[in-house]
Amino acid sequence: MQDTLVLNQAFIQPLPFLQNFHTTVDVLRLDVLHPVISGNKWFKLKRYIEEARVQNKKALLTFGGAFSNHIAATAAACASYGLGSIGIIRGEPGTTPSHTLTAAAELGMNLYFVDRATYRAKQIPCEVYARFSDADLLIVNEGGYGKPGCRGAADILSVCDTSAYTHIFAACGTGTTLAGLIEGSQHHQQVCGVSVLKNHDGLENDLRPLLQEKTKPFALYHDYHFGGYAKHKPELFRFMNELYRSCAIPTDFVYTAKLFFALQDIISHGGLPTGSKVLVIHSGGLQGNGSLPQGTLIF
Ligand SMILES: *Cc1c(COP(=O)(O)O)cnc(C)c1O
Repeated sequence: MQDTLVLNQAFIQPLPFLQNFHTTVDVLRLDVLHPVISGNKWFKLKRYIEEARVQNKKALLTFGGAFSNHIAATAAACASYGLGSIGIIRGEPGTTPSHTLTAAAELGMNLYFVDRATYRAKQIPCEVYARFSDADLLIVNEGGYGKPGCRGAADILSVCDTSAYTHIFAACGTGTTLAGLIEGSQHHQQVCGVSVLKNHDGLENDLRPLLQEKTKPFALYHDYHFGGYAKHKPELFRFMNELYRSCAIPTDFVYTAKLFFALQDIISHGGLPTGSKVLVIHSGGLQGNGSLPQGTLIF
């Protein structure tokens, strides 16, 4: 049993193809941290893991869909720390389990499939209690949503020196990471979130309660979801391949491809002031590309 997690070093990389509109753009490469617990997921999980260890919990229990990066990361992080992990998965097991769930199960995660209504109610199936008591479990919201997730994500901006940037861009699912970035940012910095869900009008209301400092401004973009969560179009794959060809930056089709696409669109339409210095958070998630047909991407 290990009790630690070895992470690779994150780094900052310039993005040359967006530099010509009087703006500089750099990428914080959190995707390189770990093959499974990549990007923002470790930051969101670390306070929960700490809490579980301090309270002598036996396992983390959390929720997600069949392609969830959060499920994959929770399975891997718990395995590294000798904690059990339980995933409550939305929907039927299906005949061929997703690549994400196969990997999670191999890491020792106990998977329970529940129908959509049960999932929505965040009910815990009684089979779980055949093996664990309430006191054994630390329950983590879907996507790591919550104050511990937000506080962990606030550390993202201290991984490297990020003080010179005027704008910080990140992809938003639950908004927990964005809330952490807002908390961790400095007063001269504007944090900008690109939502990957369609009509996620509740995003702002979801992330506000996580913030300690209520007055820091932030911006949300809602028009770059490509049809909705995990939806895509050929244009998105073309963009991903082009980005990889020009800068050797791999992106995932659910989050970071939409983020980079949004940024390019915003900058090329003059959406940021001249002289802006942008930091894009590459939040990882590359394991999710495993669900695409072979040959879709060049990386
Ligand atoms: C989960 C995830 C996000 C979204 O994070 P939230 O904190 O839920 O907003 C962004 N990017 C990637 C790659 C992710 O896996």
